[in-house]
Amino acid sequence: MRFNKGKLFVVSAPSGAGKTTLCNRLLGRFDTIGYSVSYTTRKPRHDETDTEDYYFVDETAFKGMIDRDEFLEWAQVHGNYYGTSRIRVEEILGTGRDVLLDIDPKGARQLREKLDYGIYIFITAPSMKDLRTRLVNRRTESEEIMKVRLDNAREEIRHIHEYDYIIVNSEINKATNELEAVYIAEHLKADTIETIEDIMEVD
Ligand code: 5GP
Repeated sequence: MRFNKGKLFVVSAPSGAGKTTLCNRLLGRFDTIGYSVSYTTRKPRHDETDTEDYYFVDETAFKGMIDRDEFLEWAQVHGNYYGTSRIRVEEILGTGRDVLLDIDPKGARQLREKLDYGIYIFITAPSMKDLRTRLVNRRTESEEIMKVRLDNAREEIRHIHEYDYIIVNSEINKATNELEAVYIAEHLKADTIETIEDIMEVD
């Protein structure tokens, strides 16, 4: 398969939709895509590693980055700050790979307004009940934070019409195939080919 250089894939999902698993599977299958690790003021969960899952920073450091315009986008989500580093995205695109961003709908909206490219994918669960069950089973959040996240989920899913693709994660392997299909299809688009010689030898 032939990949053109650098596309921006933006994935959003309410908490509990299975987005992290799906993104990891996509990243595991294609080495043509790099994950942009975000900055956050949220405290790390027990299974999270600094610089791999997030750059965990305090509010002063985060606000310093805002002041220096170091974020491509940033937003307050569930009471914490999250932001995409401009430099991280440029580093990945500079290697000729695609970039995968996992950001909330407010961040996605900022990018849509700012950039004239990007593929926007929304992942959700088949029901609010599923989101709640998955959040409870994950055991990463307190009861209070789970409530905030579920309330926010109701608001976030109102924005699905702003996205190019919607994946309903009712079964993880099916959803994985769908996400991979989107990735592959985006690379088969005719308008990404500049000349016929890019794709075939012509005599
Ligand atoms: P979590 O705390 O569960 O890791 O992430 C909470 C929410 O923050 C998710 O919706 C996730 O997509 C979003 N998020 C993570 N990184 C960023 C970022 O860099 N920018 C924005 N706007 N949202 C982010």
